[in-house]
Amino acid sequence: MFKKVKGFRDIFGDDIAYWELVEAKFKEIFPRFCYSEIKIPVLEKSELFVRGIGETTDIVEKEMFTFQDRDGSYLSLRPEGTASVVRAYIENKLYEPPSIKKYYYYGPMFRRERPQKGRFRQFYQLGVEAFGSESPLLDAEIIYLLYYFLNSFDLGDFLKMEINSIGCPDCRPKYKEKLIDYFKANIDKLCDDCKRRLDRNPMRILDCKIDSCKEVVKEAPIILDNLCDVCNEHFEKLKGYLRQFGVNFEVNPYIVRGLDYYVRTAFEMVTDKLGASSAVGAGGRYDGLIKDLGGPDIPGIGFAIGVDRLVELLKLKKEIKAFDVDVYVITFEDFTEIAINVCSDLRNLGIKTSLSYDLGSIKSEMKKANRLNAKYVIIIGDDEVKTGEFAVKNMETGEQIKLSKEKILEFFKNR
Ligand code: ATP
Ligand code: MG
Repeated sequence: MFKKVKGFRDIFGDDIAYWELVEAKFKEIFPRFCYSEIKIPVLEKSELFVRGIGETTDIVEKEMFTFQDRDGSYLSLRPEGTASVVRAYIENKLYEPPSIKKYYYYGPMFRRERPQKGRFRQFYQLGVEAFGSESPLLDAEIIYLLYYFLNSFDLGDFLKMEINSIGCPDCRPKYKEKLIDYFKANIDKLCDDCKRRLDRNPMRILDCKIDSCKEVVKEAPIILDNLCDVCNEHFEKLKGYLRQFGVNFEVNPYIVRGLDYYVRTAFEMVTDKLGASSAVGAGGRYDGLIKDLGGPDIPGIGFAIGVDRLVELLKLKKEIKAFDVDVYVITFEDFTEIAINVCSDLRNLGIKTSLSYDLGSIKSEMKKANRLNAKYVIIIGDDEVKTGEFAVKNMETGEQIKLSKEKILEFFKNR
C-alpha cells in the first residue's frame, strides 16, 4: 500500500465542485481587469528563489523542496509565483514595448511547513502581477480586484481587507533600527525564532503568531509613524482611491511581508474562521525586484490568493454537491445502438450522461444509478423499443413517465 507524502493531499468528489467554482470565477473576472494568463514552470533554479524571495525569509531558510539535479545544479519546486513571473517577464523581454503589463497565474506551490488547518505542503495559489506603474491608483485597483473577487463568493462577513505601508529603502532602515532597539530591550520576552529574527529580519517579529511575542509587539514603534514623505503621500493617495473604488478596509500597521523585496503598499484579506491560517490573500508592491533579478528598473505589484483556504471558507458558507450524473441510461445487449444514440444526443445538449456498460439486470443497474446519485434514469429495453416510448424516471421523486426519443430530448432541453 502506498501512502501519499506528508502534507500533500488528494482532492476529489464534492470538494471538486468548490474548486471548479473558484476556477470558473477567476477566469471570468480577472480578464475584466485586463489580466491575461501566464503559465510558469513548477521547477526553477533554486538561486531564483534565494535571490527573489530573500535569504532570511522562512521560505528560503526552511521551507523549500530543493534537490540536486544530475548536472550538479540545485533546483527547487516553486514556493510562490512572483519570482517566476518576474523571471519570465525579464527573460522574454515582456517589458518591450514599454507599457503596463498585467498577468495572472494559477497552480500548485510547495512549501515544507508543518501541516495544519489551512496549511499544506502542496497548496494552490491564484495570483496576479502588474508591471510598469508606481501609481497608487494601480495599488488601489489591484486591492479592489482582490476584494471584488473574494466578495463575489458572498464571503463578506468572513473577510476583512487590511492595508499597510511598509516604507521604502529610504525610510525602512531607520525604522528597523528603532525596532531593534525596542526589541533588544524586551529580548527575554521573545520566542527563540524571534530572537533569531532580531538580527536577520526584525520586522518579521511583528508577524509572529506566538502570544507572548504579540504582547511585546503591541508597544513596538510602528512603521506608519516613520514613513518618509514620498511613502506617506503614496499611502494617503492609496486610501483616497480605495474609498473611491468602494473598498471597505482597515489600516493594520503590523502587516509585514515575509518577502524582502516589498516596498510601500502591503495588504491582506484575512479571516478569523481558519485558526492561525488567517490570510486568504496577500500582496504588495515590489518596485526593486525586477532590477534585482537582472531586468530593467520597472516597478511591480501583485497578490496571491490561497485557493485551498478560499475553498475551506466556501465550505463553511454553503454546501455544494458535485452532481456528477444527470442521466443514467440503462440498456441491454440488443439495444446498445439506440442507447448510444440517445446518449450522444443528450451529451450534445450538455447533459451529463452515463451508460450501463455492464448491461446487467434492471435491478442491479438501478442500484448503480442510485450509487452514482443520478438525477434521472432512462430505460431502453424490449418494451421500449417495441412501443418507441422510453421510461424516464426521476430518481429524486420516484416519478416515472414514458416519452418518445424526440420528447426525451425536448424534456431535457427544458431542464
Ligand atoms: P502565512 O502567514 O499564512 O504563512 P504567507 O505570508 O506565508 O502566509 P504568502 O507567501 O503571502 O503567505 O502567500 C499568499 C497566500 O497563499 C496566503 O495568504 C495563503 O492564503 C496561501 N498560503 C501560503 N502558505 C500556504 C500553505 N502552506 N498552505 C495553504 N495556503 C498557503
Ligand atoms: Mg508562510
